[in-house]
Amino acid sequence: MGNLFVTPSLVSYESYELKQIPIVPYDTQIYSCKGNQIEEINNLPENLLQFNCSDNMIKKIERIPQSLKKLSLTHNLIQKIENLPDGLVEFYGNHNKITKVENIPKSISYLYVNFNQITEIENLPDDLIMFNCYGNPIYGTKCKEQTTYKSFTLKSIVADFILHHNMNYDIVPAELKEYLASPTNKCFKCGKSKYIFKKEFKNHKRWEIPCIYSYCYKCSVTKKNKFTYF
Ligand SMILES: [Zn+2]
Repeated sequence: MGNLFVTPSLVSYESYELKQIPIVPYDTQIYSCKGNQIEEINNLPENLLQFNCSDNMIKKIERIPQSLKKLSLTHNLIQKIENLPDGLVEFYGNHNKITKVENIPKSISYLYVNFNQITEIENLPDDLIMFNCYGNPIYGTKCKEQTTYKSFTLKSIVADFILHHNMNYDIVPAELKEYLASPTNKCFKCGKSKYIFKKEFKNHKRWEIPCIYSYCYKCSVTKKNKFTYF
């Protein structure tokens, strides 16, 4: 008979003056390296659920396991929010050097980015339960709500033509694919990395903070608002 009750395996290396994240058993689920001198994220086990690396010297969010649900990186030197896994639910990024809220997975429910240098917020998910952004230059400002459309370029026309006609992407020459893939901004609605056709600037109703929402061409076009090429 195996164990009926499984306790998530927890490993803690808090305040050891470590410069590197120690390798831990592969089945570790909760891991803390809080209060060391760690500069880089690596060596995390594949199935990790929670990771706390607050009070360190981390510059970059990278090599995060796809399984992670909760990530604490407060009091570090992070400048950019990136590489957060798609299933992440909680992100704690207070007291860093973040300048923009971006690349936030739709799965996020709790987002804390107090005391950074944030001047821009992009594609903030609608389903956030908690969003804390105090102590940033953007806090307390209001934007003039507006929508901007980018004029069509040959690139956007070709990309949308391929998309709208469900063309087999295998027959598109590699050079053309590379050219079309070069805009890598995520569309707020479909989540795909696409050419951004429409940008909406508006105050988030719940958090009362200026936000930018980016949309690809396909997601910008509604029945009310139909564009024609010719
Ligand atoms: Zn889209």
